[in-house]
Order: sequence, then structure tokens, then C-alpha cells
Amino acid sequence: MPDTLLRLDTLEPLRARVAAWRREGERIVLVPTMGALHAGHLALVAHARAIGQRVIASIFVNPTQFGPTEDFSRYPRDTEGDLALLAGAGADAAWLPTVEIMYPADFATRIEPGPAAEGLCGRFRPGHFSGVATVVAKLLNQVGPDVALFGEKDFQQLQVIRSVVRDLDIPVAIEGVPTLREADGLALSSRNRYLAPAERATAPRLHAVLARIAEGLATGAEAGPLVADGIAELEAAGFGPVQYLEVRDAETLAPVARVAREARVIAAAYLGGTRLIDNVAALPG
Ligand code: AMP
Repeated sequence: MPDTLLRLDTLEPLRARVAAWRREGERIVLVPTMGALHAGHLALVAHARAIGQRVIASIFVNPTQFGPTEDFSRYPRDTEGDLALLAGAGADAAWLPTVEIMYPADFATRIEPGPAAEGLCGRFRPGHFSGVATVVAKLLNQVGPDVALFGEKDFQQLQVIRSVVRDLDIPVAIEGVPTLREADGLALSSRNRYLAPAERATAPRLHAVLARIAEGLATGAEAGPLVADGIAELEAAGFGPVQYLEVRDAETLAPVARVAREARVIAAAYLGGTRLIDNVAALPG
């Protein structure tokens, strides 16, 4: 495990470093993040360490994936804390591009992802997945990793990125990593720090509801009534609005009425001012 973390702020040294590693035949794994790192991100770094020789984590709060009323300006930022966590987790390098490096004044290109970006978060966050697809394509081109890791926590994002990489022939393997949760089931998220204590106490209900729906689906039950009960339970617990709670095919993200192969029970809901998303696997019984 490396004991020093290389901090890379500009493109040239990043490319030189990766080229040198590649000449040594090392397998390079990229973990893209927006910083404010927590144990969920570090699980991705640990997985990267397990499957490759060199681990680069990027930290970039990407303005183009935030809507005009979303939390870009107040999104938590703690670069020094993040670097300490990455060093402790055994990452080799941190790639820290500025907004000016990523989006110079003459920047003019956007990737428009296909059906994977429609519905679910795509419906409530117009332009979000275009911003994600564009920044991830840039990060993949800048770093040139063999593998890039993304959390299943952002399941639609993972499927959008898979489709972009496939459609644009980007030479990288995309791997999903299971969601890391608190002991009470709440998925770790940089946004959990927005939750007031009473909201934090309610937040695990989201995972509990999704898990119960997945159990019902495994018995062969129909999605519709399970989902309606789940939404009612979340609203009664204090969530609102529940933007969506749906059962989708795990690969195509097409709506599913009864589970015949792996599906995902997937939701986004506000708790106070904080938007939480989560999903769980639903397998046929
Ligand atoms: P973010 O910094 O929120 O953009 O997240 C960076 C990466 O970490 C994304 O691929 C996320 O899906 C992943 N991630 C975030 N939270 C978790 C979690 N609780 N478990 C696993 N991966 C996560």
C-alpha cells in the first residue's frame, strides 16, 4: 500500500504519471467522486486497491450536473480532509481539476445520454445526466484508466455511464460497487450531513420500505400495490414529496410489474430540505 498520496492539479502531470504506470504494465483504476468523502467512497477505493495496482480518485464538484435551484454552491467541500482519507485508504493519486480546467471559456460540447437517463431522477433533474455523462467522459479521457468504479447507490447513474461508455467505445471497464450503509440501513451519502437529528432518525425508513417491497416482489407479488403502500408509509413517516418509487429492470431500467429477473426498487424522496435517493435489488423468489 502506498504511504504517500500524489496530488495532481493539472492535466500534464496526470497524463505523465498514468503513462509511466502503464509502461510498467500496471492496472489503473479510477474512482470519480465529488469529494466530501465518507466510508462509501472509501469502499470504492478499497475495491479499486483489490482489483488494480494503481488507484486514482478524482474530486470534482461538477457544476453542469446541478440544476439552477439545486445545492451546487452549498455542496460540502473539504479537500484537505478528503486527501487525508484517500491517503489512509491507500489511493496512489488524487486528481483535483478546477472548474476552469474542466470547462474553459470556449467549452461547447455536451453528451446527451439515451433512454437510461429518462424517467426516475432524469424526470426530476433535467440536464443532470447530460452533465454527469459529459464530466465522466472527460474524466475517463483525462485519466485513461483500465477500470472505473461507480456506486450502485446511484444506480441510474451507473447504467447511464455504462451506456455512454458502450455507445462511445470508451476503452474502459465500468464496475458497480454495492451500497455501503449505516448500521440502521441508511445509505451513506455526502448529503446526509444536511439532515437535522429528527430527520436523521427518520431517514432509514427509506431503505426499510425499499427492502420490504423487494421481499414482497420475491414472493411473486405485483409491484403496483407494494409501491403504493410504500409511498404511503414514507409520507406518513414525514418524507415528502416522494418524487418516485418504482420497480425497474436492473439492466434496462424498463418498468417491471412482476419480478422475473433482477430488478431494482428505486426511489428519490425529500426529507425536509434534503433529497435522498436509494435502491435495493429485487430478485425472483
Ligand atoms: P459522489 O461523490 O456522491 O458523486 O459519489 C462518488 C461515487 O461514490 C459514486 O460512484 C457513488 O455512487 C459512490 N457512492 C456514494 N455513496 C456510496 C455508498 N453509500 N456506497 C457505495 N458507493 C457510494
